[in-house]
Amino acid sequence: MTDRYAVIGHPIAHSKSPAIHAAFAAQTAQDLSYEALLAPLDGFAAAVAQFRAQGGRGMNITVPFKEEAWQLADRLTERARLAGAVNTFVFGGDVQGDNTDGAGLVRDLEVLGAPLAGARVLLLGAGGAARGVILPLIDAGVARLFIANRTADKARALQAHFAGHDARGVLAAGGWQEAADAPYDVVINATSASLSDEAPPLPAGLYAPDSLAYDMVYGRGLTAYLKQARDQGAARLADGLGMLVEQAAEAFALWRGVHPDTAAVRATLRAALPPLV
Ligand code: NDP
Repeated sequence: MTDRYAVIGHPIAHSKSPAIHAAFAAQTAQDLSYEALLAPLDGFAAAVAQFRAQGGRGMNITVPFKEEAWQLADRLTERARLAGAVNTFVFGGDVQGDNTDGAGLVRDLEVLGAPLAGARVLLLGAGGAARGVILPLIDAGVARLFIANRTADKARALQAHFAGHDARGVLAAGGWQEAADAPYDVVINATSASLSDEAPPLPAGLYAPDSLAYDMVYGRGLTAYLKQARDQGAARLADGLGMLVEQAAEAFALWRGVHPDTAAVRATLRAALPPLV
């Protein structure tokens, strides 16, 4: 019997997840369907319950329901518990909530040739996206992880939140100017500034010539942040498309026990987007 999966959000029509998972299923010969579900803003739990009652085996959760999914889950993985957000449900006897966003980012950075073991990393932002990637970055063996945010206290609060997982003492946090302890191997923009064509007002000197500047936003070509990074000397630029594909692959692996090869899907989606120049 065909196993059913879905992505749930509001809005949802723009989601690339159905196409990504259909490609993964075809490649791995898995008998599954994957649909996009639009839930009313006040109807997330009911929509999840209905999908489950209809035999659904798992779900991806996207904006604006990731925090509500975190509350709804019967069990949480450690990375999801700390992230405070859930992007993947696995339905069995109960509802397991996981968060594959950080694993997707780590995987994407590997694919991009930016190894994290021993790396100095600057993470811009202290919202949900930043929070979701901190534990996976620590676990990937970074030598330093500075969390910088417009509201510096929110960055410091995140450092405190993850202190119990920072046995090597790699975490530090503060405002933009405090991030000047540079250069960094990788700078990750996890703010939503690019959505309004803005870049955080970062100090100069953050980048060495081979540093990677990474914007989690995708589909907008050269964002204000990437342009700023290029102007400040970063030669390697990346957007968040790879993270999107890789978090999907991590969810697929949780559900199906097989990790799909992501190269073809990455290339297909990339070809449809404006270039990073
Ligand atoms: P949140 O609303 O939770 O957090 C927003 C963050 O951006 C805060 O740290 C906020 O700072 C900061 N910020 C907002 N506007 C500005 C600005 N003009 N200048 C500087 N900082 C600003 O958003 P999320 O964390 O959920 O999402 C962040 C981004 O990551 C989004 O663009 C989203 O599309 C992207 N994303 C991409 C994914 C992928 O798979 N590629 C996955 C998840 C997210 P303050 O605290 O001071 O308000």
